[in-house]
Amino acid sequence: MSVTDRITVITRSRERLEDVTYVVNEAIQRSGAQEGICHLFVPHTTAGIIVNENADPDVLRDILEKLNDLVPASGSYHHAEGNAHAHIKASLVGQSLTLPVAGGKLALGQWQGVFLAEFDGPRDRTLVITVIPASEAHEESVPEEYRRGA
Ligand code: ZN
Repeated sequence: MSVTDRITVITRSRERLEDVTYVVNEAIQRSGAQEGICHLFVPHTTAGIIVNENADPDVLRDILEKLNDLVPASGSYHHAEGNAHAHIKASLVGQSLTLPVAGGKLALGQWQGVFLAEFDGPRDRTLVITVIPASEAHEESVPEEYRRGA
């Protein structure tokens, strides 16, 4: 059975990459899954989610600064709310990730972390975490008569 968790992530500034690796791993632990898939979804239009380096914080600064170069806050935008740049950046980075789970946690590379990308904060954001254990995927792929006979 897959398990879905909705957690609140408090973003601490207008634009920020909040490391959510730890809270995602906690949700995987609560699910009990050892191997499988973790799907992450951010149900917002001015925030997204990415995987990138968790070692040198300058990488995160560079990502935010370069996104600002690409999509400046002021420009000839139509959206009257004044946060068109935040919507565009959110679409550039995307709102979901599908990641492997191994050993009861995210199977990330050595220097990787998962970051909720805030472009119009600070706010309380929701992160939807769905964990799909590998054993379930396997059982459902086997026809029921074979499972009963086993
Ligand atoms: Zn808006």
